[in-house]
Order: sequence, then structure tokens, then C-alpha cells
Amino acid sequence: MARRLVVLYHDDFREHSPGSVKHPEDPGRLDIALKSVADVISYAPGRRVAVRVAPRGDLNVFNKVHDQAYVERVKAILRSRKFEWLDKDTYVSRGTIKALSRLAGASQKAVILALRGVNSFILGRPPSHHAGRSGRAMRAPSMGFCLLNATALIAGVLAAHGRVAVVDFDVHHGNGTQEIFYSNPHILHVDIHVDPAVSYPGTGYPGDVGEGEGAGTKVNIVTPHMAGDDIYGDVLELVEAILSSWKPDYIVVSAGFDAYRGDNEMVLMNVGTRFYYNIGRLLASNARAVVSVLEGGYSIGLDRAFKAYIAGILGLRTWPWDPPSHSGNTAWRTYKAYKRLVVASILKHGRISLPKEIAREAEALKPKVRRYRRRKRRYRRYIF
Ligand SMILES: [Zn+2]
Repeated sequence: MARRLVVLYHDDFREHSPGSVKHPEDPGRLDIALKSVADVISYAPGRRVAVRVAPRGDLNVFNKVHDQAYVERVKAILRSRKFEWLDKDTYVSRGTIKALSRLAGASQKAVILALRGVNSFILGRPPSHHAGRSGRAMRAPSMGFCLLNATALIAGVLAAHGRVAVVDFDVHHGNGTQEIFYSNPHILHVDIHVDPAVSYPGTGYPGDVGEGEGAGTKVNIVTPHMAGDDIYGDVLELVEAILSSWKPDYIVVSAGFDAYRGDNEMVLMNVGTRFYYNIGRLLASNARAVVSVLEGGYSIGLDRAFKAYIAGILGLRTWPWDPPSHSGNTAWRTYKAYKRLVVASILKHGRISLPKEIAREAEALKPKVRRYRRRKRRYRRYIF
């Protein structure tokens, strides 16, 4: 059966706005993403992509994944209906309450669709994955544009209905989501992100595997700056092996497109359309349904990478590829040093099994553990 995708959207998502202040996370992002959806609709045969209204919902549903006191605090701030900075990155505005209400409703709708086996994409704002149990997560320096965590909410609700995996390919670590489920053994979280030693939010090292009963269910795959399609192709093989072991019924995706080459100036990466198409295809073929939530992506990533991801989810036969990009030797060295730690951390806890080739290959890589520890300390000194 041909795969389908329901895009959940409402203009209220534009109401969360920095106004005249220049900020990368602004409503203009949705213009680019909506144009991408229209482009795929004109490309894909039949009615395989449909845009549906994201319904309104009650913010109290977020009590499932956040502390109630935190949700109450957010609601109180939103009721004042004025523009305000909550930290150096994260703002609220007059209309944020409308946007978050649609995010709550869209999350509930996405769960209903997933239970029917239908894939969905919440094209909403503000983003989710840096919002932890009570705001700032895992000692990160800020909430990174996020207020309430829809990704975690959807994963938490779906976990009552089947096996759940969260996959986060935004270029930043999904520290909020990871913190929320850190001791939860039922939710696998695979997070692909740029080296936390040199980038926001400074969390998500391979040794961070969860705690208590959850130990071994959190996987942090670290990529270096300027990583290209070759490194991301290797990442994809690892993700595939992890998902084949976990066998999720539902996959909830923190879909950020900020690792796409040239998307933004915050993190410089060199990933092309190939990775986004392939991961879309991989996720959709490994679960009954995939629910994606828009995280980062600030310019061209929301055009080219987002379209390629939808094409992959739908399983379209082909998509306009970017020419393949290659990573330099330094990037490969950093990646391999980290990969060895990732594989060792997975094998240590035994919650996920990996093919022998991956274990052997990682074992053969020379450890750079001392250097990695030094880097970690240096960054911690820098941000705290
Ligand atoms: Zn990001």
C-alpha cells in the first residue's frame, strides 16, 4: 500500500513571533516549509500528502511530561500576553498561547492518526526538544527557543499503545526529551547531533545512556562540524541496526533540518538531501506509523532537506539528489573516536543488540577517550 502523510498545520503557529526583533526562529520559517509541502504535493501522484487543520488543545495535556508547576508557570507568563525574553535565546509573545494550544491539539491528533497507522508531520512552532521536565534541561545554558515538548508528549502517550522509539536528527541534542525519559526503560531515544563539546546545548555524550531502569535505552550519536553525506551515511547504518533490534511500533521524530548545508550560521554542517530522504525512508519502513515534529531548520534546510525527508517517508522512487558531500580527515577522526564510545555504551547495557560487524569495527578504532574527556571539561568550564 502506498504510504501517506498528513501534515498538521494552522496559521496560529505564526502567532508566536519575535515581532521586529531579529531572531532565527520566526514565522517566516513556515512559509518556506509550506511551499515545500506544496511542491511535494505537485510532485507526488494521487493524494498521498494532505494538509489538515491542527486542532486547538488544552495546555494541561503537557502535565504528562512536564512538572505541573512548570506548565502553570508557562501558562501564567502567556496570560500576560506580552513579548518577553525567558532567557537569552527563548522568547514568548502575545500570540504564543494560540500557537501552543494548536501544538497541544496537533499532538493529540497525531496520536490518533498513528494508532490508525497514518504518518503525520506537525508543521508547528515553537519547537520542542530542548524543553525539559521543568524548562531548561540537563544544565543546558538556555531553553533553546523551546517552551513545551510536543515530541515527548506524543512519545509518552504512544508508549501506552506499543513500543516507541524517539529519533532526533536535528543538529542539536534533544536534551529536553532525553531528560524527560532518562529513567524510562520503555522509550528508546536515538539522538544524532553535532559534537556537544563545541556546540549548544553542550549535552548528549555517548556515555549518557539513561539512568536506573532506563540505562541503555538512550543513544547519543555524535557528529563533527562539517560532517558530510559520507559520515551521515555511516550514522544511518547504525540507526538502522538499532531500530532493527528495538523493533518499534511507533517512531516519534524530532525533525530538524539545521544540519543541511548552508541552512544557518549557528552550526556549520555539510549534509545533503540524500541523508534526509534515506532517513525518512528508513523510519517509515521500520514502524506502523511515524509522527514527526518540526524542530530546527531556518532557511534552505526547510526547502531541500524537508522535501527530501517527506519524499523518503512516502517512499517515492527518486528525488533530486544534491551532489554527494565528503567529510575531511579531521571530521572522520573525531567521528570514529565518538562512534567507538557510542557502540561500547550500547553493548555495555545490552538493551540493544548490534550486528557483530559493527561491534568489531568499533573495537578496531583507536580510542581517543582522553582527548574526549578533556574536550568535555573544557566546554563545561565555558558554559557554566
Ligand atoms: Zn537545532
